[in-house]
Amino acid sequence: MSRRNTASKSAVLHLIQQSDCALSQEMVADRLRTDINRSTIYRILNRFVEDGLVHRVVGEDGRQYFARCSGCTPEVHRHDHPHFHCTACERVECLSEPVNISIPAGYRAQFLNVTVSGLCGDCSSDHEKAPSAGGRKGLS
Ligand SMILES: [Zn+2]
Ligand SMILES: [Zn+2]
Ligand SMILES: [Zn+2]
Repeated sequence: MSRRNTASKSAVLHLIQQSDCALSQEMVADRLRTDINRSTIYRILNRFVEDGLVHRVVGEDGRQYFARCSGCTPEVHRHDHPHFHCTACERVECLSEPVNISIPAGYRAQFLNVTVSGLCGDCSSDHEKAPSAGGRKGLS
């Protein structure tokens, strides 16, 4: 792997580890402000998932986001937390409250994807101040 690629990898990892919310491939590209192409970023992110450094979050829109891991190894990702996807500002974050899902005896869980969508704290308070903005009328 070239030196340039190694530098890209550490820049991407740094960005995810510094971020308190999950980032999509596009967000990483925008924030890096470099000319690394998106498929390279996607490859780097997938590599980090395999390495146990970041985990994949599937948003309400079906897009993939990536958030930092703590205590994961290349062998196993240990996550039992849901994610929150704000439909207004597109923010995706890890929630700390674990979810317990029972699966039949003999089954083995490998990936849990629980995403709650709605409005984050910032967006719901904006909403109260300006009720005319945005056309969504709660959950149906
Ligand atoms: Zn993990
Ligand atoms: Zn929001
Ligand atoms: Zn998470």
